[in-house]
Amino acid sequence: MIRQWQPQCITEPLTATGRSFGSSAKGYLTPCCWIDFSFYKNIKELESDDPQLVSLFEEHLKIKNNDSIEDILLSDEWIEFYDNLASVDTAPKTCKRYCYKYSNSELKKEKFNNKEEE
Ligand code: SF4
Repeated sequence: MIRQWQPQCITEPLTATGRSFGSSAKGYLTPCCWIDFSFYKNIKELESDDPQLVSLFEEHLKIKNNDSIEDILLSDEWIEFYDNLASVDTAPKTCKRYCYKYSNSELKKEKFNNKEEE
């Protein structure tokens, strides 16, 4: 089984299992339902669990403090967040927990090749 990094919020094509934006009960846009500040009691709890996500939940990024969703997505914090998804090495801990594609293609190839030799 091969595990490959695949951020579901930016991978095309977006399928029924893909992830899309959400809004948290605390008033923020979220990149998906797994990244939700509402899961935490306060910012200190988020800081200790997944410090990379803290910047997405600054007061000025609340939906009510912006004229449009684009204003939030084009903020430095969100741009850096998406830049960090380019590699599993730089992705936030929460993303590393969820977003992989699993494939057994090597196993199938191996079985197929063995069958040819028989
Ligand atoms: S967990 Fe992270 S990488 Fe996966 S869909 Fe959500 S924001 Fe994107």
